[in-house]
Amino acid sequence: MKILIADDDPISRKILSKVVTDIGYEPVTVSNGKDALDRVKRKEFSVILLDWMMPGMDGIQVCREIRKFDTEHVCYIIINSAREGSDDISRALRAGANDYISKKTNSTELKARICVAVRTAQLEKKLIDLNNRLKYLVRTDSLTGLLNHAAILKELSMELDRGKRDSTSTSVLMLDLDRFKAVNDTYGHQTGDKVLISFAKLLSQSCRSFDRIGRYGGEEFLIVLPRTQREESVSIGNRIRMRTAALQIDKEIENLRITCSIGCCTTEKSEKHASSMVAAADSALFRAKKAGRNQVIPCK
Ligand code: GH3
Ligand code: MG
Ligand code: MG
Repeated sequence: MKILIADDDPISRKILSKVVTDIGYEPVTVSNGKDALDRVKRKEFSVILLDWMMPGMDGIQVCREIRKFDTEHVCYIIINSAREGSDDISRALRAGANDYISKKTNSTELKARICVAVRTAQLEKKLIDLNNRLKYLVRTDSLTGLLNHAAILKELSMELDRGKRDSTSTSVLMLDLDRFKAVNDTYGHQTGDKVLISFAKLLSQSCRSFDRIGRYGGEEFLIVLPRTQREESVSIGNRIRMRTAALQIDKEIENLRITCSIGCCTTEKSEKHASSMVAAADSALFRAKKAGRNQVIPCK
């Protein structure tokens, strides 16, 4: 791990570098606050030894600036200063420092404090990674990797709000695999899962980067198409429908082919609610099924 040392005094930089090297970390030195801030902004460091008194930007200012963008407090800051009074210590900690070490502190204590900093920074990073992973899992359908039911509905609401602000149309496609139960019954549930995964991949490859795709339930999928009018949504639906019919899922099972039915709904200035959009697309899908499947039907 690299540790940043910011100190305008070359002797202090040398002493601190040796301490850092002795405990097995790599010191990187800068001689002023501005350079320290630039390096931290590049997210190269999670532990910093920061001198208080430096020309230009002092350690306290650097500390405050770091906390403005480092809202998750990933960076562990140790202020290292000749000042020793309780008021100064309290000021440094309130500015966002995690610890305060007097310049008179001996190297044994200094090393121990840096080890605490490393341990805390590593733990904090682990927590943040775990939290991000949880955020991902809570939104994601584990089989297909698409957004799950709750997440796609949330995206739809957000897109409708955006569309209302910009006065643009938003469309949704509700897709359902045709006679999918027969796939499970004929080839088994595992092959059925494989079909769902291949279909999800086809959807991702058929949509634009700003479209949102979710698994609404079982073999039903919902696609949110921002800034998309009725005709365009129908043609996107038809493109997906044709690709689906041509999809080869398993080289070993030549006969395994699927089709899908699609219901579309568009709201001109995105004034409809998410639930009424979904209901309208769902009833269009129902009509597509009744009309013989493998087709795209827009809502009335
Ligand atoms: P339709 O054309 O009317 O939609 O007929 P269908 O057979 O596709 O519709 P139905 O609702 O009768 O059956 C849906 C099937 O989807 C039944 C269910 O077991 C299957 N299914 C739902 N989720 C999964 C899943 O995660 N994996 C697998 N393999 N099958 C699933
Ligand atoms: Mg079905
Ligand atoms: Mg279904």
